Amino acid sequence: MKTGFALCAIVAIVRTASVDLNKRASPLAVTLTHLNDTAFKVGITNSGLNGYNLLYAGSLLDDAPTDDLIITSATSPAKFHGVHLRPLQSHLTQAAFVSIAAGQTISKQIDIAEIYETPSDSYTVTAAGSFPYAEADSTELSGKSLSFTSNTVKMDIDGDIAAKVIYKVDRMHSKRTDLESDCSSTQLSTVKAALSNCEKLASAAADAAANGHGTIFAEYFKTESLRPDVATRLRDVAKDCAATTSGATTTSCKDQYSACSDNVLAYTIPQKNAVFLCSSFFSYLPAVADSCHAQDQATTVIHENTHAPAVDNPGTSDNGYGYSA
Ligand SMILES: [Zn+2]
Repeated sequence: MKTGFALCAIVAIVRTASVDLNKRASPLAVTLTHLNDTAFKVGITNSGLNGYNLLYAGSLLDDAPTDDLIITSATSPAKFHGVHLRPLQSHLTQAAFVSIAAGQTISKQIDIAEIYETPSDSYTVTAAGSFPYAEADSTELSGKSLSFTSNTVKMDIDGDIAAKVIYKVDRMHSKRTDLESDCSSTQLSTVKAALSNCEKLASAAADAAANGHGTIFAEYFKTESLRPDVATRLRDVAKDCAATTSGATTTSCKDQYSACSDNVLAYTIPQKNAVFLCSSFFSYLPAVADSCHAQDQATTVIHENTHAPAVDNPGTSDNGYGYSA
């Protein structure tokens, strides 16, 4: 296995968006306003001179319960109870984007108790993440992303009130079927090939992370001190992909949480250690891409597996805050 391909697997665990190595000051300002109990208003203002098409699947703008907030009590981060979505990055239509004009503010409401476990305590709440984007008149991703970090709100949460709020992901769950038995035979052979490629790539990447070129590693993780952790994580992913019948995760071809769309490839429900592959995964992705910048089935499976706490606890989050950054 060539080092280049192994590196793709390392990149796959960093985050969803293409890695932006040349971060500039972002024109997006995000403001959090506490409304009542666990409800917040989020305002996203484009203070730049240009409009943008923001890729919204899996982001703060998605209606799905995504992980774009950092909620911390005095003792620990609040446990995430939502869904990690992997957006498609090619073949995109305008429907994949939310447009934001220069000077425009987009607002939405979020109830944090629908997404995070929040027992009685004092918390700080911050929104942080990034939007991959296309220019205003385009549906072709620029390869860069606009990052944001909001103000931090301090608040006390009454756990009894918060516990009455139903997790959004539980409302999304439509039908309970037997995982793994719901792939068609064509899908099943694709999934088996993806799991086998996942095992090969992740093992090669684990070796590269442990013994490979340090400067390349540091480009993605900012420090070489994480090399043993990343190597362990990749080895655990390889092990899980190799265990087709008794692994830590389950893989399904049915959209049991109704989180798939044309622009979503796959998603993971960390609470269930369950990975769901959407029809775009089968129709748009090659088994293994010939470049790190293109998405493929093998690195998508690697990426989703790193979200599952049963593979390695805690699972990764897409903005990197749960693990490396
Ligand atoms: Zn992800």
